[in-house]
Amino acid sequence: MTQTYQMVIDGQSVAAASTFEVRNPSTGEVIGLAPEASLHDLNTAVAAAHAAFKTWSASSDDDLRSACEAVTAKIAEHSDELARLITLEQGKPLNGLGSRWEMGGVGAWGGYTSALSLPMKVLQDNNEGRVELHRKPLGVIGSITPWNFPVMIAIWHIMPALRTGNTVVIKPSPMTPLSTIRMVELMNEVLPSGVVNCVTGSDGGDSIGAAMSAHPDIRKIVFTGSCATGEKVMRSAAETMKRLTLEMGGNDAGIVLPDVDTAQIAEGLFWGGFINNGQTCAAMKRLYVHEDVYDEVCEHLVNFAKSIPVGDGMSEDSILGPIQNQMQFDKVKSLVDDAKGKGRVLLGGEAGEGLFFPPTIIADLSNDDPLVAEEQFGPALPIIKFSDLDEVIAQANRSENGLGGSVWSQDIEKAKEIALKMECGSVWINKHGAIQPNAPFGGVKKSGIGVEFGEEGLQEYTDVQVVFS
Ligand code: NAD
Repeated sequence: MTQTYQMVIDGQSVAAASTFEVRNPSTGEVIGLAPEASLHDLNTAVAAAHAAFKTWSASSDDDLRSACEAVTAKIAEHSDELARLITLEQGKPLNGLGSRWEMGGVGAWGGYTSALSLPMKVLQDNNEGRVELHRKPLGVIGSITPWNFPVMIAIWHIMPALRTGNTVVIKPSPMTPLSTIRMVELMNEVLPSGVVNCVTGSDGGDSIGAAMSAHPDIRKIVFTGSCATGEKVMRSAAETMKRLTLEMGGNDAGIVLPDVDTAQIAEGLFWGGFINNGQTCAAMKRLYVHEDVYDEVCEHLVNFAKSIPVGDGMSEDSILGPIQNQMQFDKVKSLVDDAKGKGRVLLGGEAGEGLFFPPTIIADLSNDDPLVAEEQFGPALPIIKFSDLDEVIAQANRSENGLGGSVWSQDIEKAKEIALKMECGSVWINKHGAIQPNAPFGGVKKSGIGVEFGEEGLQEYTDVQVVFS
């Protein structure tokens, strides 16, 4: 029998008046029924979080740390169960850089964030007076997450909120609500009622997400998703002057210089572009290769890509799975179809069964071709040949987005010089997209506002109060 999931409100599992189907992208089968939250349900969840804030925010720093450690440990005990759910609803394989790997990230971020703290700072202490800087929790945090890394991104939102004394209402993507519901159920086994609540809804225009962005009792929205939705969130948050962290889309460029070892970088280039089937905000979405090594880089990259098995995520043989949903599949297919007429298909290019689309590499494209200029968010990588370094940096920067970028070279100092000229929040040298819990991560330009991770990320869940005595 198909399992019916429930919302988590004030420490209780709460049934919604109706449900919606969640399907496995590998097979199309219904794997669970998710609750269709009403605005009344959202208001109840916000009220519970609001009530819980009073006690939770008064907890000592040690108690908050211990609670976050307990949450991390509880989730680790259920890592296999959550990995299975992620694979069933998201499609990524259990294996490889798939759902077990995502759960590894959940443990790493949970542990690191638990250990962070923002103690009071003394800015001045002399005979003219003492000035202290305190960091105070905001209140109820509204978390809105996407479908690509459902549990890891939820942890990125929830853990710093809890660690700094805030309470949370999370709304996952309608494509992948089940693993988040289960994770919040587990959190509630070790947290006081109302500290973390979860509501889900299917509505494409997203009435629940929109209502959260405008809700008078939510003090901050942390949002990860597309640029178009992020703009809407920002607009509707204005009236209540909410704090915002917006992590949005990217169109990351990779630049390969002529001094690389072309065989050695092939694996890193592949995973830079194809991690999570390219459905990764900071994946390499356009690859610029110097003319001196162009043919060799293309050849080694294609050979490596051919070694990657694609299939049903539940099979231990699969390293990449299907595209997560039909809308994304149609977008990737249309960009690839267009690029086929403009460039040279080195690998893939033809849609498979259902939502499967093979790793696709298309060379000889130019900067204005849609597969280069737009965020494909799927398993299709365009390659562009370049000869002039200044021109290629300008091309890389000719984007409204600025999430990540990479430079590939044996000359690390030269690569760093280029990195500093790139307009993006993170630049990797000889790798791409390798985020870590101690390094702030965020986008510039239209890729977002604010950062996550590390002390800088934690600060975004607080207001500053300065006390003069
Ligand atoms: P999306 O914008 O469609 O949805 C994201 C979330 O917003 C979902 O929970 C959705 O239900 C909700 N939502 C939809 N309409 C809303 C509204 N009007 N108000 C409030 N919430 C609303 O994004 P997606 O398709 O789920 O995710 C893919 C996008 O996310 C890509 O562009 C990708 O680059 C980006 N992304 C960015 C990062 C990052 O850290 N920068 C990480 C992962 C994904």
